[in-house]
Amino acid sequence: MKLENDPLAAFWMPFTANRAFKAAPRLLSSAKDMHYTSSDGRQVLDGTAGLWCVNAGHCRAPIVEAIRKTAGEMDFGPTFQLAHPLAFELATRLAALMPEPLDRIFFTNSGSESVDTALKIALAYQRARGEGTRTRLIGRERGYHGVGFGGISVGGIVNNRRQFGTLLTGVDHLPHTHDLAANAFTKGRPQHGAHLADDLERIVALHGAETIAAVIVEPMAGSTGVLIPPLGYLERLREICTRHGIVLIFDEVITAFGRLGGATAAEVLGVTPDIITMAKGLTNAAVPMGAVAVSRVIHDAVVEGGPDGIELFHGYTYSGHPLAAAAGIASLDLYRDEGLFERAADLSGYWQDAVHSLKGKPHVIDLRNLGIVAGIELEPRAGAAGKRAMELFHKCFDTGLLIRVTGDIVALSPPLILEKAHIDEMIGRIGDLLATVD
Ligand code: PMP
Repeated sequence: MKLENDPLAAFWMPFTANRAFKAAPRLLSSAKDMHYTSSDGRQVLDGTAGLWCVNAGHCRAPIVEAIRKTAGEMDFGPTFQLAHPLAFELATRLAALMPEPLDRIFFTNSGSESVDTALKIALAYQRARGEGTRTRLIGRERGYHGVGFGGISVGGIVNNRRQFGTLLTGVDHLPHTHDLAANAFTKGRPQHGAHLADDLERIVALHGAETIAAVIVEPMAGSTGVLIPPLGYLERLREICTRHGIVLIFDEVITAFGRLGGATAAEVLGVTPDIITMAKGLTNAAVPMGAVAVSRVIHDAVVEGGPDGIELFHGYTYSGHPLAAAAGIASLDLYRDEGLFERAADLSGYWQDAVHSLKGKPHVIDLRNLGIVAGIELEPRAGAAGKRAMELFHKCFDTGLLIRVTGDIVALSPPLILEKAHIDEMIGRIGDLLATVD
């Protein structure tokens, strides 16, 4: 093959147009703790923990060491019919972090795979308990559940869905919970919106509970702009699911591992689902890995196979990969030894005050926060949605701060090792630069 004379052409970048990237390439060459170093040698404060995932900060020595050691001892071992101890060890450690009674762990390689796995487990469970007519899946508008066919089917982002035909059939969506008119500038959890969970009753009345297998929601929607669950909303969803025999799945790919100030959003928000999906912070993102936690009841029913004797036939070559398991164990050790979940809880008040100090800055129409997450919603430019936030993104990066933008919403989710001075720097920089964005 004759290659083009362009080193930036062959990599088909995810969610990114190469042509636009090449106009002003931003290459990150190394990372340590709270900072990236760009290829032109600049320090960039990481306001997003990579992609909501490097919760303990970058290139932490214990994680690096664990990966190095395992790479020299056990590069790969199949987990079909065989296994190696690290996968069991991580599963046991992870089960201990999950809310009761979720103590069985299925390993995947990503959030998308965790979501597809969870949906399959929910369907298999309904069938195993003799409820095989329950095949419908319910997601939510503005939900993000990765990019597998299951995830985009229950997800609620139009751009992720529109090219791909019918997707999974038998999927409905709850309304999203974002209500600027009622809840703008709420600190922490909004008062208004618990009633939106009642839409599940409408869906049940329309199709019959005996057709509905599962509901999947992010307890706090991250990727579509930090949508904080209204007080009472998740409780109501839980109650309706329980009453109608519907499996409730929390997609905790972003919220697990300290982001909200505890091991899971379920723990922090006090609502326990039937299944939790995870990825990202599980290994501090050092090696790709995801996981799905379920109760023993669901696990045993699915494994025994129910009336038709069909067992769940599902797994990945790399489920429980040794390097990922080693990184996972080292990450959980680090979270525990440095008290990072508690640290996130302790800093969340300072974080909230800092975030809300942006009220009154140019273009800001809402500020949202929970744990160590913030959403800063900007008024869109007339006829140019997303352009204002993108301009801010560029200006932040060029002055040494990485933020994430989705439409006209800035999302912040820095590593949990951050200091108050980092919060001041981040929020101060954004406040100053907002005045320079037109
Ligand atoms: N679910 C949620 C809630 C997510 O935030 C993400 C990724 N941001 C995913 C699933 C997909 O994860 P991955 O990109 O690892 O497939």
